[in-house]
Amino acid sequence: MGKVAILGAGISGLTTAWYLKQKYPGLTVDVFERRDRAGGNIRSISLGGHITELGPRGIRPKGKGTYFLQLIHDLGMQDELIKANQAAKKRYLYMDGELEKLPSGPFTLFGSRPLKGWWRAVWKEFRDKVPAPRSEEETVYEFIERRFGTQLAETLADPFFTGIYAGDIRKLSALAVIPHMMEYEEKYGSVLKGFLAEPSDEGRVDRSFGDLEKASLLTIRGGMQELCDRLADELGPSLHLDTTVSSLEPLFGKYDRVISTLPAYVLSGLVPEPLRTCLQSVEYAPIALVALNFQEKLEVPEGFGYLVASNQEQAILGCIFNDQTFPELSPDNSSSFSVMIGGSRMKDFFRYSKDDFLSIARETLAVHLKNTRFRVPDASFVQVWPQAIPQYNTGHLQILEAIKEETKDGKLLVSGNFVSGIAVADCIRHAKIIADSLELD
Ligand SMILES: Cc1cc2nc3c(=O)[nH]c(=O)nc-3n(C[C@H](O)[C@H](O)[C@H](O)COP(=O)(O)OP(=O)(O)OC[C@H]3O[C@@H](n4cnc5c(N)ncnc54)[C@H](O)[C@@H]3O)c2cc1C
Repeated sequence: MGKVAILGAGISGLTTAWYLKQKYPGLTVDVFERRDRAGGNIRSISLGGHITELGPRGIRPKGKGTYFLQLIHDLGMQDELIKANQAAKKRYLYMDGELEKLPSGPFTLFGSRPLKGWWRAVWKEFRDKVPAPRSEEETVYEFIERRFGTQLAETLADPFFTGIYAGDIRKLSALAVIPHMMEYEEKYGSVLKGFLAEPSDEGRVDRSFGDLEKASLLTIRGGMQELCDRLADELGPSLHLDTTVSSLEPLFGKYDRVISTLPAYVLSGLVPEPLRTCLQSVEYAPIALVALNFQEKLEVPEGFGYLVASNQEQAILGCIFNDQTFPELSPDNSSSFSVMIGGSRMKDFFRYSKDDFLSIARETLAVHLKNTRFRVPDASFVQVWPQAIPQYNTGHLQILEAIKEETKDGKLLVSGNFVSGIAVADCIRHAKIIADSLELD
């Protein structure tokens, strides 16, 4: 039986190793991780009695999220799952000094102030012939604006995609980020008609998880880190922490396959041209996540939290009301908030210190949520992710094609969130696809 090296022990590396071990129990798999812990972007800490997430905080269980559910079941961790509170279905937009509720379903759309007149845009999209794309590869902004108008693009799409990618919808590629919408346009002449004809549930596993799939979000009782710790335990001595990979050549000599789940900017330093330039062209957006925890319940609107559109010119991208989303992770009668700052639009991000980010978060929440108590949290933590999220900007699919071409000899397999999709569930799904497709003697 062969030997496989996996580079990086984020969720992509851990699950690739786990699925390979499931498929080939006798296989030697070595996972190399530069940090002293497994999980990569997934990191949960205990802060003032709250389990506080410094990276991803929840998994959408629908569609590709079923890969996360399948993994949890395979690991026997189903009793550790927590569903988000019903209240977390409510989400807000910060607009003109107020938090405005976003529609949570078709019947609440009419009363939504941020989307006043939305129905005209949607009806137009459904009924009218919409102009053809103006550029060869449209950005998400261009696509949404062309089909639904400027208001929907700026008020809804901008904060929504910023909330996921911390990026700029004027740079994100529609083909890479919302391919299903483009397919609907092609097939039905309307995105809305496409959604009605084939409600999007693409890329799911072939089994149902019942009520769990109806939750808006899921997490794990001890925090997302617990999943990574569990996968690390399963790997045992095959996981080599504190081990930085600084060259690939020795690994090619020792292993039958080398699978990289390293960020593109790290892998680029380990490979020759032209692969190096290809990988270097993947942009990453920075994020500072500021956790603010309180020993009492602070009055805020009921819900998951709020997003801020770029046209509001505020210092933060949004804020999550953690204790309302997953009350099990916080002590009774306490509150917990996560403030996101940065993104690819914040050009001067690297001029700020952790203290600056903390001040920005405290002051901004005091103003947005109209309560000076936000200025004096009982516990706080700032996590800076200098290269947090890879940007699927225009040209990204060509970059992925070129990477495929340059690695077609099969010596090196390139994975990780700049290839698989950025959600944790995308990474798990891609790991399974790699393990299923890899043939070893
Ligand atoms: C703040 C934040 C919030 C997020 N929120 C969500 C969310 O709510 N839901 C969701 O689904 N997704 C979310 N995401 C995205 C998701 O967390 C990531 O896309 C995913 O965790 C990436 O996993 P990965 O294994 O591909 O990469 P990484 O987690 O980056 O793992 C790569 C690993 O490689 C290691 N490494 C780097 N260089 C070397 C080297 N030379 N040698 C050895 N090892 C090395 C790193 O230390 C790291 O452990 C969020 C991300 C961030 C940053």
